Amino acid sequence: MDAGLPVVTMTASTHMQEKLSCLGIRNELDLILHLPIRYEDETHLFPISDAPQGQVVQVEGVIIHNEVVIRPRRQLVCQVEDRSGILVMRFLNFYGSQIKTYAVGKRVRLLGEIRSGFFGAEMVHPKCRIVRESESLADTLTPVYPTTAGLTQKILSKLIGQILQDAQRKQHLTETLPEQIIKKYRLASFQASVLCLHNPPSDVSIDALQTRTHPAWQRIKFDELLAQQLSMRLHYRQRRSHSAPVLPQKNQLAKKFLQQLAFKLTAAQIKVSAEISRDLAAVHPMQRLLQGDVGSGKTIVAALAALQAIESGFQAAIMAPTEILAEQHFQKLSAWFELLGIRVVWLSGSQKKKQRQAALDDIALGNAQLAVGTHALFQEQVIFHQLGLVIIDEQHRFGVHQRLALRMKGAQANMVPHQLMMSATPIPRTLSMSYFADLDVSIIDELPPGRAPIVTKLIAENRRNEIIARIQHACHQGKQVYWVCPLIEESETLQLKTAMEAHDSLSRIFPDLNVGLVHGRLSTQEKTEVMTSFKRGTIQLLVATTVIEVGVDVPNASLMVIENAERMGLSQLHQLRGRVGRGSEASICILMFQQPLSDIARQRLKIIFEQSDGFEIARRDLQLRGPGEFLGARQSGVPMLRFADLEQDGQLLTAAQSVADEMLNEYPDLAQRHIQRWLGEKTEYLRV
Ligand code: ADP
Ligand code: MG
Repeated sequence: MDAGLPVVTMTASTHMQEKLSCLGIRNELDLILHLPIRYEDETHLFPISDAPQGQVVQVEGVIIHNEVVIRPRRQLVCQVEDRSGILVMRFLNFYGSQIKTYAVGKRVRLLGEIRSGFFGAEMVHPKCRIVRESESLADTLTPVYPTTAGLTQKILSKLIGQILQDAQRKQHLTETLPEQIIKKYRLASFQASVLCLHNPPSDVSIDALQTRTHPAWQRIKFDELLAQQLSMRLHYRQRRSHSAPVLPQKNQLAKKFLQQLAFKLTAAQIKVSAEISRDLAAVHPMQRLLQGDVGSGKTIVAALAALQAIESGFQAAIMAPTEILAEQHFQKLSAWFELLGIRVVWLSGSQKKKQRQAALDDIALGNAQLAVGTHALFQEQVIFHQLGLVIIDEQHRFGVHQRLALRMKGAQANMVPHQLMMSATPIPRTLSMSYFADLDVSIIDELPPGRAPIVTKLIAENRRNEIIARIQHACHQGKQVYWVCPLIEESETLQLKTAMEAHDSLSRIFPDLNVGLVHGRLSTQEKTEVMTSFKRGTIQLLVATTVIEVGVDVPNASLMVIENAERMGLSQLHQLRGRVGRGSEASICILMFQQPLSDIARQRLKIIFEQSDGFEIARRDLQLRGPGEFLGARQSGVPMLRFADLEQDGQLLTAAQSVADEMLNEYPDLAQRHIQRWLGEKTEYLRV
């Protein structure tokens, strides 16, 4: 489709093109889809005394007073009068020229919010322009576009206006949806919707436009969601077109393995294992995301999947984002698997050369059936004998490229290994329906029985003594304690220093306790030593940076203190808290905070205090922060949503989901055009 740049290039200088590209606008279609963030209603005037407060209104009057006031700070204050009353307008920043422009006797039109100030009704920094008497009013709502420094509203809307004039001729506004779908979902036409949003007729409810409930907005949001679904489902289908080793469930190893365990699987674990098992037995590569709250027991599900691959003579690899976690997986899995006669090897970046070479040889020769490690697993020197399954724990920690590399690692003779991704950050349903539409999702929705709930306490920093007493008490009862040091994002060195200082001072406070320290700069061996001592109970109090955030599992630890909890994000707090409450002991998590709290920090602490359900926390987090952070590294590969709102537009999302499959099956050409319109060149990868 010719969506090139002619008009933009003709009218736009390179300078303007740069500005436009800051806004993500590269061609005419992008400009057409550059829709207003809000509207201003300049179609009628309110009498000053009748104008409603708390909303943007337009009034007109004559300036009767003009003065620069010095106190409490320098500002320009004018009084504007119409037949009904007087309004004060106030400019805190103003140019000298404005004093003259707004001279007494001038007629002005003001657009802004009226508030009651000390001297009666006032508008602070209204949009203000000089008008002649009975100058005509706008006959449509005025769109306000997202813009960037150096590109005015005026220029931008003029540019968009020009493009729209030619749009029909250039077929920019043609329909991409089959008629029957438009009918079925009662959608407005694309052309009418675009034109209406850029130039809303005066009789359109401004409220419906602002809240984006107007049919025109509904259509645009539907199209956007559909484009995302189409592109992601297309990627899914492409990946699925590869072949994968068929790994049938023979169940011999799994049976033996489950007999060793001291507990029974939960119903949720059984359900997701069956889903995974079915995928592994298929001729196409599995691309499944396993979600389960912290402590829901994902490791065992991963182990079962690995056993199914191994039983068919293939290798499996488990990759974890931190050495501590990888090491822990290694210990657990090798203990379990060695009883079954399966060889498990360990691979990490900081390993000694000789050990590493031995591990590499075992992997290459197929002596090792399971390899556990960090991202060291997908480095070049690692060559698998016959890799059938790749498991990625805490997948959101890995970049798209890293996952891709591991996937490609096992690709041989047009065969691609199965892939299981695991995540302890529960993803709200709508988010996973949209941004994870290229994956199959399994959810563990229950925790193993017998877990005592975790009590969360919020304690201000200045009540430290109270906390010290609790630690003392817990340790004397034979329990173990985590002390989590504050996250200092700006500087790892500073974070390290803080952790060491905390360790020193806590060692002094508790001379009779064995206080350990673990942080990201320790070598693997040092980390392992500390973690092993903590697991064995020789260390009672473990001072840690957030390296323990993911996956660490020490059931006897039942008290956690988090310093400066106000600095941490919700999912991080939830993850950290999940390190306790793993045994049958009642556990406590103390969130220490420093005052004053910012508004957002207060909200976060309130949520984490009130909620223990990871999915609910995630949902609230999504409301607070938007989808960006949930997606982590994924963000770079997925088409982001600009218009649709996952909370508000759940129904549109469900519709888009089913329409996407229908279109890919029955109208592939229209589907392509739709993707092209919305995503253009942005549909790069998502191959993982
Ligand atoms: P996560 O989902 O956070 O990775 P883990 O796999 O580390 O959770 O499991 C947390 C703890 O729960 C481990 O100590 C594990 O042995 C235990 N566990 C797992 N499944 C069950 C079960 N069905 N019943 C009892 N305990 C279980
Ligand atoms: Mg885990």
